[in-house]
Amino acid sequence: MTTLKLHNTKTRKREDFAPIDPQNVRMYVCGPTVYDRAHLGNARPVIVFDVLFRLLRHIYGADHVTYVRNFTDVDDKINARSAASGRSIGEITEETIGWFLEDMGAVGALQPTHMPRATEYIPQMVAMIEGLMADGFAYEKDGHVLFRVRKYKEYGALSGRSVDDMIAGARVEVAPYKEDPMDFVLWKPSDAETPGWDSPWGRGRPGWHIECSAMAHELLGSHFDIHGGGNDLMFPHHENEIAQSCCAGDKFANVWLHNEMLQVEGKKMSKSLGNFFTVRDLLDQDVPGEVIRFVMLSTHYRKPMDWTEKKREEAEKTLRKWYALAAAADGSTPDEDLIGLLADDLNTAGAIGHLHKLAGAGDAAALRSGLQLLGLMGDIIPAWAAQASFDLVDYEAFLSDARVTAMETKDFADVDRIKSMLVAAGVQVQMSKDGVVLTPTPEFDADKLEAL
Ligand code: AMP
Ligand code: ZN
Repeated sequence: MTTLKLHNTKTRKREDFAPIDPQNVRMYVCGPTVYDRAHLGNARPVIVFDVLFRLLRHIYGADHVTYVRNFTDVDDKINARSAASGRSIGEITEETIGWFLEDMGAVGALQPTHMPRATEYIPQMVAMIEGLMADGFAYEKDGHVLFRVRKYKEYGALSGRSVDDMIAGARVEVAPYKEDPMDFVLWKPSDAETPGWDSPWGRGRPGWHIECSAMAHELLGSHFDIHGGGNDLMFPHHENEIAQSCCAGDKFANVWLHNEMLQVEGKKMSKSLGNFFTVRDLLDQDVPGEVIRFVMLSTHYRKPMDWTEKKREEAEKTLRKWYALAAAADGSTPDEDLIGLLADDLNTAGAIGHLHKLAGAGDAAALRSGLQLLGLMGDIIPAWAAQASFDLVDYEAFLSDARVTAMETKDFADVDRIKSMLVAAGVQVQMSKDGVVLTPTPEFDADKLEAL
């Protein structure tokens, strides 16, 4: 069996992955807060952890992996959106969840095994908070319940910082109901306009962090294998998840994985810089989801990734070539070199390099199965492959006609010109008395045909 190596944020080491139960490998990834379209950065963790999900299914079997990714559907940003738009919270979250699944499906992400919504797990959150209070890890003040950070000695171990360093580096909210500025909210009161649930501390709503702890416990148990998310979540969100869960008696996650952030043309993506766009914006500009995925995978998940127009163009050219080649093949088992690269802490950039080699060698079957494993064989495959062969059928007729004319006039200049352009576009040209046969080679580039 392939040995998977993963860089564990918690130990800061690359470790051999040993599942708690190989019959049920369990992974939790923090999902989106649902009030708006996913921006391009949001797609990065989705794609990264989708590759890991596919790899785990390949290694342990499709029925032996449980992947949970939540929807945060109670949050002050959602309340604000509702107040500003006059639309109900339920309408906004429902619509946003639909968009998210549609857009992430377009970039080739499989749906996780479970996609819990926070609002469906309020009783579990309340029970967890009650347990933490009973053991002195949490306290109530003015309708708020807070976690007593100083009570958990391991706090900060994930990011490797002391509590005092973290206070200095973060904007920690000082509030009259807190014993210590580091303490964070487990539960807060709701007014009549804000969504709320009855609880031992009055009508209120949960803090963000407790959601993940309660849902992971409910769906994956007290000890599971992998927890993932963007590295912007490491502190405070993941430190807080660990503190809550471990103080509630869970062992929680063995391996922590964090993806680095996405930038656009070398700059942080932001509305004020005018380089902010959603996945849907790209799809609407006819950028296929596979191209988005390809660009994302060409950078290792632990490195900052730069989205550029140049990379997008290159990715499209490469995929067009590959699809023309792969269309002719039947899928086969992905080759071991490719699995080895992915098992090396998800070396997706190396995996893409390997596909280049397979394509260069004309190994259509291995290329196709490699594309499949990476989730790059989506809807455009048939479209682009059909387009490639459609183009070639046209050119076959075109070249045949030119040839018939040339036989009559004895002037082969046109035939030679067409033939050399086809060859330059990566097409193998066979001419015999029976006619013309054109076959795409690994270098096939449909764009170059347009000059003809
Ligand atoms: P947010 O929209 O900030 O709640 O983030 C949702 C998810 O997207 C989290 O896992 C973040 O870590 C991730 N994320 C947000 N911005 C970026 C970015 N620029 N690059 C990569 N991941 C991001
Ligand atoms: Zn979380």
